[in-house]
Amino acid sequence: MKRREFLSSLAVAAAGTLPSLNAAMPARPPAKPVWRRVRPLDAAWPSAASWAGLKDSVGGQLIEVQALFQGCTGDPEGAACVEAHKNIGNPYWLGDQPGGTENSGWLDAWSPAPSAYAVKARHAGDVAAAIDFARENRLRLVLKGGGHSYLGTSNAPDSLLIWTRAMNQVTLHEAFVGQGCAGRAEPVPAVSAGAGAMWMDLYHAVTTEGGRYVQGGSCTTVGVAGLVQSGGFNAFSKGFGTAAAGLLEAEIVTADGRVLVVNACRDPELFWALKGGGGGTFGVVTRVTLRTHELPRYFGAAWGEVRARSSEAFARLIGRFVAFYRETLFNPHWGEHVHFRPDNVLEIDMVSQGLSPEQTQAAWQPFFDWVKASPQDFELASPGAWAWNARSWWDLDKRASTYIRDPRAGAPRHHAWGKGDQGEVGVFLHGYDSLWLPAALLQAESRRSLAEALFAASRHQMVRLHIGKGLAGAPDEVRAAARQTATNPAVLDAFTLVIIADGEQPPAYPGHARPAVDLAAARRNARNIDLAAAELRRISPNSGSYVSESNYFNRGWQREYWGANYARLRAIKSKVDPDGLFFVHHGVGSEDWSADGFTRLG
Ligand SMILES: Cc1cc2nc3c(=O)[nH]c(=O)nc-3n(C[C@H](O)[C@H](O)[C@H](O)COP(=O)(O)OP(=O)(O)OC[C@H]3O[C@@H](n4cnc5c(N)ncnc54)[C@H](O)[C@@H]3O)c2cc1C
Repeated sequence: MKRREFLSSLAVAAAGTLPSLNAAMPARPPAKPVWRRVRPLDAAWPSAASWAGLKDSVGGQLIEVQALFQGCTGDPEGAACVEAHKNIGNPYWLGDQPGGTENSGWLDAWSPAPSAYAVKARHAGDVAAAIDFARENRLRLVLKGGGHSYLGTSNAPDSLLIWTRAMNQVTLHEAFVGQGCAGRAEPVPAVSAGAGAMWMDLYHAVTTEGGRYVQGGSCTTVGVAGLVQSGGFNAFSKGFGTAAAGLLEAEIVTADGRVLVVNACRDPELFWALKGGGGGTFGVVTRVTLRTHELPRYFGAAWGEVRARSSEAFARLIGRFVAFYRETLFNPHWGEHVHFRPDNVLEIDMVSQGLSPEQTQAAWQPFFDWVKASPQDFELASPGAWAWNARSWWDLDKRASTYIRDPRAGAPRHHAWGKGDQGEVGVFLHGYDSLWLPAALLQAESRRSLAEALFAASRHQMVRLHIGKGLAGAPDEVRAAARQTATNPAVLDAFTLVIIADGEQPPAYPGHARPAVDLAAARRNARNIDLAAAELRRISPNSGSYVSESNYFNRGWQREYWGANYARLRAIKSKVDPDGLFFVHHGVGSEDWSADGFTRLG
């Protein structure tokens, strides 16, 4: 039964049983019936025969989901438990488990919880069958691709999971024209990927094998569909924009079970919403097609660590770095990261594109020289800058020392993750926040307050500038393309996204044998993250936050994630999913639901 029919049938039933009202009492409107999704112990939970029917209709690909360490309960020496412990640091293994999540939870926010069942979808038909089943049986639905949601939006207890991991085909196109766009759009080189593909799959096919570039994310194990719907940045975004802006077409299964192909010519509103409007909200994307770009000759990097010998010297160092950034690095060539640490250290971990080795070095030499000129104030450790053939950036044979290969037998040869990303695998988050900083703060008259705020924030927690995640300084056409997406327009005027976050290893998945989390210390850490973010919000209030790398507890999330685009997204949501089948924490339309997504409010 559809939700509306169900509601009206409940309303009729309730009206029929109301006692007659005392004429002297003011008439009270009948209490609205509460609409809830069903849980396994509810009478309305589908019968075993119903589940068997679903299993048949998805070619047997219905799985009872287990938590990662469920196998350890009562049998710590058993194969399942040993396997979990052996692989817990491997992000590919985590993604290969229906109950797996890249993070092991977030203090006071969420803890990984397996769905009751998962459909391991092979194609859009399986997805449509699962959607129909969830809608008809009033189930809580969750969608998972790469499982990298920091906000925990791809897992929920008592739910049915649509798991796209197996849909990972990648196809290159020399001249792609979207369906219905013939004669209206120029053919362009592109790549199509199933929703379960990860960025490493695309970088391997497009760059290592194909000699071109596709705009995606930095972390190689993030899912393609999830990142595109987030907006999607990496260190080269200042040159190429967001992943969402590169979307040419998507195949999507909507709440009514229809399989649609949407692009700028067909269903442009829904297409626009998929470009940064947030995952898990408008339907299940089953395939994306993204524009590819000419590959620059070089990708490069600059690295090093500057330790200031006093807080005063560190404040001066930040001021100098801000000026250096504005003079030399504020352009399409440079991205990611610099870190300002509470122990008065500036960590440099920057990436460049389109600069020769000599140009890369020349850019940094003046800054390194400035630091070296004051040995009484600063110590410079392992500075360097260089560039390499861009085509070898994700080539494991050429850059073996940068990556960790998936060691499991049978793993694709190109599957690897960055050594620098190991600290993220399975991390239990204490807190996380992000905000965009407008480029106006780089102007001469504002630089001092920017540097002071960065210093003040760094007294509480490490502050990271993700420079590629702000599009001020990007080419005009890149900014114009990003303007055609649902991402908060604040990104266009921001020179960086600041991320302040912390957590702990080893992973804290339920059932994982490890020392208990020190809750008091973790909460102090979370508080420091809030204090650091507050220092920066003082100089940049309401500057927006990146939906997929943001604070779980952000109270102004509609405005912060999408700015003026929220009203349009809300209207699209009401049209394509009027009954709210798709729910995620702080997703468009989620204000209509209880925090767990089970009860409709109002
Ligand atoms: C370690 C790590 C590194 C990251 N690095 C970057 C980065 O470099 N750049 C960046 O921009 N972001 C980054 N992110 C954030 C990341 O882009 C988002 O969390 C993204 O949504 C993850 O997609 P996923 O498929 O891996 O995750 P999932 O957890 O599977 O999905 C994320 C969200 O998308 C929804 N979703 C998944 N598949 C579909 C589908 N087929 N159709 C509709 N909705 C779907 C889910 O319901 C969920 O709400 C990172 C996150 C982590 C944990």
